[in-house]
Amino acid sequence: ARTIHQIQSGQVIVDLCSVVKELVENSLDAGATNIEVRFKNQGLDAIEVQDNGSGISKENYDTLALKHYTSKLSTYSDLESLETFGFRGEALSSLCALSKFSVTTCLASDAPKGSRLEFETSGKLRSTSVVAVQKGTTVLVERLFHNLPVRRRELERNIKREWNKVLSVLNQYACIQTGLKFSVSQQPNKGKRMILFSTKGNQTTRENIVNVFGAKTLAVLIPLDLVLELEPTNTSTQRLTTRGGNESKLIRVRGHVSRPAHGEGRQTPDRQMFFVNGRPCGLPQFAKVFNEVYKSYNASQSPFIFADIQLDTHLYDVNVSPDKRSILLHDQTRMLDSLRESLSTLFESQDY
Ligand code: ADP
Ligand code: MG
Repeated sequence: ARTIHQIQSGQVIVDLCSVVKELVENSLDAGATNIEVRFKNQGLDAIEVQDNGSGISKENYDTLALKHYTSKLSTYSDLESLETFGFRGEALSSLCALSKFSVTTCLASDAPKGSRLEFETSGKLRSTSVVAVQKGTTVLVERLFHNLPVRRRELERNIKREWNKVLSVLNQYACIQTGLKFSVSQQPNKGKRMILFSTKGNQTTRENIVNVFGAKTLAVLIPLDLVLELEPTNTSTQRLTTRGGNESKLIRVRGHVSRPAHGEGRQTPDRQMFFVNGRPCGLPQFAKVFNEVYKSYNASQSPFIFADIQLDTHLYDVNVSPDKRSILLHDQTRMLDSLRESLSTLFESQDY
């Protein structure tokens, strides 16, 4: 059963990066353990995302790409405790309007007989045909913005920057998702397809980082596992862990960070990845604190950072931007002060 929801409407597809992000998140929401992202001409010609997730059932074909149809939300209050990435039902409808768009999908019970779906720009289902495929879904987006000449030209002009953004967001998903086989390949205009990176269904983010950035990266990293305090210290003990029974004020920052003194000639990859409860997002304020503290030990480099901020959902708002990447943290000043302190302690405790 599908529900219609008029949630804050906005542009979800604004650039290449948002296409990639929406499609990968749909695959994750569908429970995929294997995702392949394939680009043609850095995405200018095509972006294809194939997964081995649940597939889409026939009764949902008609509404799949209609605006505000989503299978992921049954009541408005679900928004409060959102477990899936998607909930607006806007990505596929936008892609219909902005690209040459098709979907191939197959349920486990139907394999190996799946369907290829084509859509009108309005999102209305135009045709279905039977194809031989395995369980899962493949979404193909060709010629993004082909019908909007100005935006298309701008995309082509900025492709270098766009492409870097795309790769860095793909790195983030590849590193944070354990138990997922994730591969990214690109075929240039003239030339053959090359795998850019792939993860192997690892159980740890460490192994993911090795797959994505190479084993050398690991040599300079130390584990990050900080607990941040939000309450003033004198009252912290009784109020820190619970409020109203299950609302925790505990914040954990987990992941990996460069050891400040890691020897001459060892270049840290210039990567800084932040997540909130496992969701990739930009956290410039957090990055700033990491960089400042790190610089006080090693002025010549900036650190590799992989940091997942784990905190109760009542301590932040995700619903502030259509692409859900900017997150509003409550009590941020105190969070950052506490981060600064704990990071200094961590670096201090390292054997140089
Ligand atoms: P949302 O993710 O917000 O629900 P989308 O427009 O991204 O909206 O997707 C619309 C619907 O299409 C989803 O709710 C889901 O039911 C279905 N869908 C999209 N991609 C996939 C996929 N890879 N596997 C299974 N179902 C999918
Ligand atoms: Mg979605």
